[in-house]
Amino acid sequence: MTVLAICAIIQAMLTIDIVTIFPEMFDSPFNASIIKRAREKGLVSIRAHNLRDWATDKHKTTDDTLYGGGGGMLMKPEPLFAAVEAIRGECSVPTILLTPQGRLFNQQVAQELAQESRLLFICGRYEGVDERVRQHLATDELSIGDYVLSGGEVAAMVVVDAVVRLLPGALGYEHAAAEDSHATGLLEGPHYTRPPKFRAWEVPEILTSGHHARVAAWRRRQALMRTLARRPDLLARARLDAQDRRWLAELGYNGPFAHGQIDSER
Ligand code: SAM
Repeated sequence: MTVLAICAIIQAMLTIDIVTIFPEMFDSPFNASIIKRAREKGLVSIRAHNLRDWATDKHKTTDDTLYGGGGGMLMKPEPLFAAVEAIRGECSVPTILLTPQGRLFNQQVAQELAQESRLLFICGRYEGVDERVRQHLATDELSIGDYVLSGGEVAAMVVVDAVVRLLPGALGYEHAAAEDSHATGLLEGPHYTRPPKFRAWEVPEILTSGHHARVAAWRRRQALMRTLARRPDLLARARLDAQDRRWLAELGYNGPFAHGQIDSER
């Protein structure tokens, strides 16, 4: 069997490999709720690898001091290259370095990654990783926000969670990921459940009317209002139709709008 054929077989489900010095951090978050179910259904396989398994000295060293001085430690290149190359084998695998200097992770990037059949994450620690890892081993760099974490593990968990819930079958039909905030380019509007009146606060009457078309229109309008109030920057990129624009105009927003969007009535 050729290498390509073997890679194709491996690629029947999404396989995620994570290289870390703290593999045990992933035990609990990946053994609960949607990710656990997705693993049990065979939609995703997630393996956290201990980088120390690829360290060659007796102390299993994975870090060293910085050339040029300065405090702190840096992750050494040799164990990272050995680990990633062993895990990738002959397959071409998107190899993502978690770093506060990477491109900003968002729903669009999650959707991109959910199309892949394999993903490999490198979790940095200390001052990060030797520059040669970024230049010659990673194929992508992701940041989960403009702040600095102690390590890439929590960032990898965030990315994996956002990606796995997009896999077909991961959420079940009761929940449409396509309607979540950011998936549509807008923030989702408010939701309610029983009881219809809690303390003095009643559920909006339209939601108990049983009129599906009016409920859908109300929800869309609420999503537009909420986005305008909280994240007006999103409106410039969202896919909006003529009715959306009319509602937004009533609310005082007249653009900018994205180019090339569908401009017909819903
Ligand atoms: N000295 C590095 C810098 O200024 O870019 C920061 C190192 S940070 C203390 C240690 C590790 O945490 C990083 O190598 C990276 O893997 C991870 N990390 C920290 N903040 C992150 C973020 N916003 N997104 C993704 N990973 C992050």
